[in-house]
Amino acid sequence: MKPPPFRWSSPGTTAEAVALLAADPRAKVLAGGQSLIPLLNMRLASPPHLVDINRVAELDAVEVTGDGVRVGALVRQAHLERDEAARKVCPLLGDALPLVAHPVIRNRGTVVGSIAHGDPAAELPAVAALLGATVRIASAAGVRDVPADVFFVAPLETALRPGELVTSVWFPAVPPATGTAVVELSRRHGDYALCGVAATVDRETGAARAAYLGVAPVPLVLDLPADDPGGYAAASVDPEADIHATAAYRRHLATVLTRRALAAARDRP
Ligand SMILES: Cc1cc2nc3c(=O)[nH]c(=O)nc-3n(C[C@H](O)[C@H](O)[C@H](O)COP(=O)(O)OP(=O)(O)OC[C@H]3O[C@@H](n4cnc5c(N)ncnc54)[C@H](O)[C@@H]3O)c2cc1C
Repeated sequence: MKPPPFRWSSPGTTAEAVALLAADPRAKVLAGGQSLIPLLNMRLASPPHLVDINRVAELDAVEVTGDGVRVGALVRQAHLERDEAARKVCPLLGDALPLVAHPVIRNRGTVVGSIAHGDPAAELPAVAALLGATVRIASAAGVRDVPADVFFVAPLETALRPGELVTSVWFPAVPPATGTAVVELSRRHGDYALCGVAATVDRETGAARAAYLGVAPVPLVLDLPADDPGGYAAASVDPEADIHATAAYRRHLATVLTRRALAAARDRP
């Protein structure tokens, strides 16, 4: 299939990109194109104007400090996957990125694009929700920071408004003595997961928190009880059935994967 006709702009700076988006509220940002282009080709979206940010070099930056990692809107998933300093501060990113699709898709797909797309079956929105990430958004009105827990609104729907560009996402470091892990189950390696769990465990207090993907309309974050966390997760998720799995099977996976994720997070050196 071919996409419907659209106007294409290729700004060189964030300011130019924001001005183009402000002038045309129906314009969409084009980043890696790994989700948007299939939607256009299948005629599930038909924006009249694509603002292609691939030439905006200032958005292609990763900043790592002891407090966390700021990922610019043009940073490819494969680039962050190989960034040892970022992985050290945010091990969950290093765990989750290899689970996103296939290397060829991660070579083009951006970390921020995955979050802006807001797919509840995607790994990076779940990691962002679990860690309490912040989404930085620019528009003609200025800059605003939106916490991940209010950014994801519904499947493929976020707090982004027309005319807005996500410029970066801030992933805070986990506190010391906190173990982390991501586990998931998909039918084939690289497919979207039927269910996935990203978890943090405080090894001193035992406090456990997990974010679920593929089993709720948005990434679902739960503070898990020490007694039967898997059962609590199964009772809390809201999975849908599709051609890949029944809702009951996905709920069962939430139980099993919760136990595995917590064990892996506790054992992490
Ligand atoms: C075969 C296949 C398998 C996949 N499997 C997985 C998987 O297992 N797990 C997973 O998580 N993902 C998967 N993906 C999706 C992939 O991770 C995409 O790269 C990602 O979802 C979108 O990133 P992108 O940079 O390609 O964004 P694009 O496709 O360019 O954009 C996606 C959406 O986000 C918006 N957007 C992008 N950047 C910005 C921005 N800076 N500001 C505002 N809006 C923006 C666009 O307007 C568009 O609506 C798969 C994709 C394919 C094709």
